[in-house]
Amino acid sequence: MANKFTFYNTLDRKVEEFHSREEGKVGIYTCGPTVYHFAHIGNIRTYIMQDVLIKALEYAGYDVKRVMNITDVGHLSSDADTGEDKMVAGAKREHKTVMEIAKFYTDAFFKDFDAVGNKRPDVVEPATNCIPEFIHMVEVLLEKDYAYVAGGNVYFDTSKLDDYYVFSSSVEKEALEVGVRDDVEEDVNKKNKTDFVLWFTKSKFEDQALKWESPWGVGYPGWHIECSCISMKHLGEYIDIHCGGVDNIFPHHTNEIAQSEAYLGHKWCNYWFHSNHLNDQSGKMSKSKGAILTVSVLQEKGYDPLVYRFFCLQSHYRKPLVFSWENLDNTVTAYNKLVKRVSELKAEGAVDEAVKAEYEGKFLDAVSNDLNTSMAITVLYDALKADTNDATKLALVESFDKVLSLDLIGHAKALADAGSSVDAELEAYINDAIARRAEAKKAKDFATADAIRDELLAKGVEIKDTREGVVWHLV
Ligand SMILES: [Zn+2]
Repeated sequence: MANKFTFYNTLDRKVEEFHSREEGKVGIYTCGPTVYHFAHIGNIRTYIMQDVLIKALEYAGYDVKRVMNITDVGHLSSDADTGEDKMVAGAKREHKTVMEIAKFYTDAFFKDFDAVGNKRPDVVEPATNCIPEFIHMVEVLLEKDYAYVAGGNVYFDTSKLDDYYVFSSSVEKEALEVGVRDDVEEDVNKKNKTDFVLWFTKSKFEDQALKWESPWGVGYPGWHIECSCISMKHLGEYIDIHCGGVDNIFPHHTNEIAQSEAYLGHKWCNYWFHSNHLNDQSGKMSKSKGAILTVSVLQEKGYDPLVYRFFCLQSHYRKPLVFSWENLDNTVTAYNKLVKRVSELKAEGAVDEAVKAEYEGKFLDAVSNDLNTSMAITVLYDALKADTNDATKLALVESFDKVLSLDLIGHAKALADAGSSVDAELEAYINDAIARRAEAKKAKDFATADAIRDELLAKGVEIKDTREGVVWHLV
């Protein structure tokens, strides 16, 4: 690769240059949703930033294969194996079966996932498809003495590792140890506080819906095991990049590394990519704080899902992002202006290849510099202002949109079509009304001017006074 591609590797706690194991090819694993409830817009932010990472790598010339799991079994309400099973709780709440819940929320997840311009992973695997693989991995971990059976469950023995807290500095490690100790529901079967369940047979829940035969009795897998198995099934013994949200770092990703490397006997994944939270004004978004704000809800309120994507791209993936309606409204204005600007470009003349290459280079520099998406958008604005012809600008918009996925050309075309589909009669009427209103305003007859504005609005035409004169659009 000619270009240096960098991003923050949580494993080494610094921005690093990326090198794939195999020249030109990247294997990426993404933790998928637990399909017991809707994914809120904060969850979707994580998938947008991963999508940008993947498309930026492709822009840089890599061939990317991405695998994602769907958790439809075994995820308890605390990531540290305590509390209630999320799927069972979801089924109870909605008086449905666990499989009905899984199907419903998987479909809902992908509806929102697609709507914000994300490309589907090459492989999407539900955990319930891979029970034999989970059992095999647990057997090997027992054989290798990394696991033990206690109280009917199989546990991973974290004391067998030299460094269990791979992601953490010594200070963070102390905080995490306190956190684990403070776990309210202590599991007396565990030899060490940080041990985690690989396979449950003695569950606290009499009504666990999905159970399978295993060498340790009828039961179900722990949550962490599925990501290790599903990634190895489709990407082999090594993955280049593992993605997730920052709240996956501990314990989920820590446990994934523990069991994967114990099983394989070598390092498993070189780069860990984590994106930060979306907060609302009251703090971190969660599913437990009443109504869940989803992409579909944004759509119902009249927001284009790609405007939400644009909102996310304007800030850096490693920083928490604050969501507010005001911020989103500002993004709507910015997005519409951008679309309008693109709609005014005429596809005439020849593309200036030298200028195109220059701006593509700047764009690649931005996205390959720790995924600086706001800088990439600045390059887009600069390209639109550049001293070159429209054909070149259009070619650049199309090129950048391979990564940004804002459908700027599609939206610009729709805007132009909407403009040209207004019939001549209506247009004459609008122009006449605008002229009458200007007369009324000139005569300081504001009541008449307002009445004309309302008359237009009643016919579905909204007008706005701008520095360039009166503009109108259909509502
Ligand atoms: Zn995972």
